[in-house]
Amino acid sequence: MADKVIPIYSEPRPAPPAPRYDGAPLSDTLGRTMRDLRISVTDRCNFRCVYCMPREVFDAGFKFVPHAALLSFEEIARLAGVFVGLGVKKIRLTGGEPLLRKDLPMLVGMLAPLGAELTLTTNGSSLVKHARALRDAGLNRITVSLDSLDEPTFRAMNDADFPVARVLDGIAAAAGAGFAPIKINMVVKRGVNDHQIVDAARHWRTEGRGRVHILRFIEFMDVGSTNGWRMDDVIPSAEVLRRIGEAFPLEPAEANYSGEVAERWRYRDGAGEIGVISSVTQAFCRDCNRMRLSTEGSLFTCLFAHHGHDLKSLLRGGATDEDIRDRVAAVWRARDDRYSEIRTTETAKQRKVEMSYIGG
Ligand code: SAM
Repeated sequence: MADKVIPIYSEPRPAPPAPRYDGAPLSDTLGRTMRDLRISVTDRCNFRCVYCMPREVFDAGFKFVPHAALLSFEEIARLAGVFVGLGVKKIRLTGGEPLLRKDLPMLVGMLAPLGAELTLTTNGSSLVKHARALRDAGLNRITVSLDSLDEPTFRAMNDADFPVARVLDGIAAAAGAGFAPIKINMVVKRGVNDHQIVDAARHWRTEGRGRVHILRFIEFMDVGSTNGWRMDDVIPSAEVLRRIGEAFPLEPAEANYSGEVAERWRYRDGAGEIGVISSVTQAFCRDCNRMRLSTEGSLFTCLFAHHGHDLKSLLRGGATDEDIRDRVAAVWRARDDRYSEIRTTETAKQRKVEMSYIGG
């Protein structure tokens, strides 16, 4: 049997002092502006999706981040305030499975007054329980991951024997709580769930019944070092669009804003829209405006990075908000990542931080 791959996490480096932030608009070395912040609130998940947290690696012996190392809600809210002060307009809570973090609606309530658009990505498994409280706390939008409507396919992909119906109930609960539109993420892996592409499109374009659910197809990516990624397993978005278009004609739609991850397509018959996220076949690095904050306070400038910038030691070492702001500004200004544009079979083998740790 092959040796078990041990995922890497952050390699904390002491944060060097940063020059005072001069207040000028933040731009990185490729002229990109900081707009989105993704916050991983836990690296744990109750699913073991084969493309994300394969069970043979994330097993009973796996060492997740210890509780004391996690950023507290107060620390997260303080950092989020600094980011909003630097121009962040959208904050996504993610993980791991964010709803495994106890009292998450309380964190939502602490972030809502910052005024950024507040969103959550979840596997939907406990949305029936939490949707109303999240809405009441001020969450603006929800994205739910659901890779297949076919029971055996879904159970095999989540590798936790979790039934489709409970995720569908969660989506219905979110709609009932007032979330609209709800985005549904479907990662497509060749030979695993690609036979479900048109079925999923059919379901979500009719299931809405007046409510808009936006299905988004995500190309299988080489995130982390443990998911055994191979280019052959990727279904290019162009193929997804071709297959759906043959059943339900599509036309391109305008992006909502510059740097939007998903490319939008609408059904010609007016039955809503879909999105495709083509990180592999059509890299969108040149518009990438995202930062990622790990569960334990490391800042990552790219989903495919292998080290982060330690903000927790600043937080816990008595730094002022201005010190933290200076550090974040310096990290953004030095940013030169464009992994997806330079991806090759060789780079795919590089050691990278796991998505569950820095947040999907
Ligand atoms: N647990 C939550 C969920 O399931 O949505 C949030 C975290 S999850 C890492 C965020 C998103 O990343 C999900 O939609 C998931 O399907 C996607 N994802 C994870 N691994 C991926 C991979 N290798 N390629 C493409 N998307 C991936």
